[in-house]
Amino acid sequence: MNLTFENKCVLITGAGRGIGRELAKAFVKCKAKTVFGLSRTNTHLQKLVLEQPAIVPVYADLADWDLTRYALECLGPIDILVNNAAESTTEPFLDIKPENFDRMFNVNVKSLINVSQVVIKGMITRNEGGSIVNISSQASKLALWNHTLYGATKAAVDSITKAMALEVGQHNIRVNAVNPTVVMTDMGRKVWSDPQKNQPLLDRIPLHKFAAVSFLNIFDVIHISEVEDVVNAVLFLSSDKAKMINGVTLSVDGGFLAC
Ligand code: NDP
Repeated sequence: MNLTFENKCVLITGAGRGIGRELAKAFVKCKAKTVFGLSRTNTHLQKLVLEQPAIVPVYADLADWDLTRYALECLGPIDILVNNAAESTTEPFLDIKPENFDRMFNVNVKSLINVSQVVIKGMITRNEGGSIVNISSQASKLALWNHTLYGATKAAVDSITKAMALEVGQHNIRVNAVNPTVVMTDMGRKVWSDPQKNQPLLDRIPLHKFAAVSFLNIFDVIHISEVEDVVNAVLFLSSDKAKMINGVTLSVDGGFLAC
């Protein structure tokens, strides 16, 4: 399937590393008119722009509601939004700290609402429709040890995705979520590198692998981000080929949640 985003302006949050970084590069490859890559750490975005100068960097800490709004309102029209930025934390339920609760819900949930409100208001004003993909997780759908907070934020993302789809569909704006299994980005490695932890999960995935296939980052040949499965799902849902798909939470998990 040939996906092309000519004349489309795309905003990807969390573009400094991992899945967001590869998404930004993929949208450029698919001929998007403008690709805005928003992230928090200057050095990560600078590296990305060195590698792909067509990407327009947007520095913002999504934890700050007002500054994020200010940064977004300067961008101009956005046709496609990928709400990808998130943080993770692992701790047993009985040890959950209130500050972690606030931080996780602020970045993973509240900021998604903030960014989407700004972008959707612009889409409605222009009356040309649009597409939004929220990056959720398999952790939204079932319990994983020590993932209470992370899973709860992603369950909120699934719920918000459906609510957004309901309310903005009338403006020809589609909203979907992608729910990956483990991807070996910095976030994935932090939690799932230990074979003692990852083997039981791998054993329960019918395809016996995590979301994978390598992209080589030419500025750091040791770093291999394995995100292509997720990128492909996002590109499809963002495109006109998915023009009747709205309000879904699409698992990219090798069958894990089905079995
Ligand atoms: P990474 O931790 O590798 O990258 C996250 C990116 O988001 C970084 O660029 C980070 O910026 C940015 N970010 C985080 N917080 C903020 C903030 N407050 N303001 C601005 N930018 C921020 O994560 P992944 O690429 O692995 O994850 C991407 C998405 O995929 C997330 O939604 C995650 O929950 C989801 N996911 C990941 C899985 C995995 O196994 N990796 C599995 C399932 C879902 P900075 O560079 O400054 O840290």
